[in-house]
Amino acid sequence: MKLSLESLIAGVDQRWKRMHTACALRSCQTTLLMRSVPQSRGGIRMGELWYCSVDCFVKAARERFSSLPARRPLEMPHNPRLSIGLVMLSKGYLTDQQYRFALAESKLTGEELESVLGRLGWVDEWQFASARAAQWGYPVLGRDRISQSVDADIPMTLLRSFSAVPLHYSKHARRLLLGFVNRVEHTLLHSIEQVTGCRADPCFITPTEFRYQMIRVTATQGSREVVLDNSLTPAEMARTLGGFALDVIAREASVAHCQNYLWTRLSGKSRTIDVLFQSRRSAGINKRDTFSSLKEEMRSAG
Ligand SMILES: [Zn+2]
Repeated sequence: MKLSLESLIAGVDQRWKRMHTACALRSCQTTLLMRSVPQSRGGIRMGELWYCSVDCFVKAARERFSSLPARRPLEMPHNPRLSIGLVMLSKGYLTDQQYRFALAESKLTGEELESVLGRLGWVDEWQFASARAAQWGYPVLGRDRISQSVDADIPMTLLRSFSAVPLHYSKHARRLLLGFVNRVEHTLLHSIEQVTGCRADPCFITPTEFRYQMIRVTATQGSREVVLDNSLTPAEMARTLGGFALDVIAREASVAHCQNYLWTRLSGKSRTIDVLFQSRRSAGINKRDTFSSLKEEMRSAG
């Protein structure tokens, strides 16, 4: 086999680059020599970024938690084109008379039409799920289709918050079917993809199906979740993450914004922890902004 000088140089160059991947924190104090020995290379990887130590990871997190970017998170509001009443009318779940009565009742009391319909008891919960599915343009799970235990890798706090539950998970295909009760929360779907690398597809289910499936959902062995509120300062938040990173001997970190949560997953060789920082809108500082851009900001940390 004939090797050209160019291919030889390219090969050496690639090996050299692999050996000398620098810490993403520009102010990193670790010497080049320490960062250059492949066997001693621990550190924490976050997407394309690599921090040579927990200290550097914490510093990058603290710096960016401390900043208050002006950018707002990308919201994906969804206003269904048809009202749920009209969908039910078109599906024959309501008569014209019932629809008009519910509409008048809603206007009179100021109640949501959905609440009025629920109170009047003219439609069952499966018809509600079916109507919501038609509104949102997603499928509704057929009756009696839920019968699986799912080894979900999603924090229960998020599932409860958004009334969503994993229904089927294909490890091979990296696909997750997620059932929603009230509305499809796109930030949850997006954050699942960011944190787990698994594509999440939505569908609608009934509240009863949701309750049954939540019981079946079993937490992944070796993983746990911690929820912290926004009373922590940016430095405390970063230090807390650092503490958990040391605890699980983290080698990988991923972070995603999920509505009013900052979801950070720290994965070690045998243990994983999900750290959820919950922000409340009533707090003076809008941490939603901080959260949403953390990943992007950590990219340029240093
Ligand atoms: Zn470093």
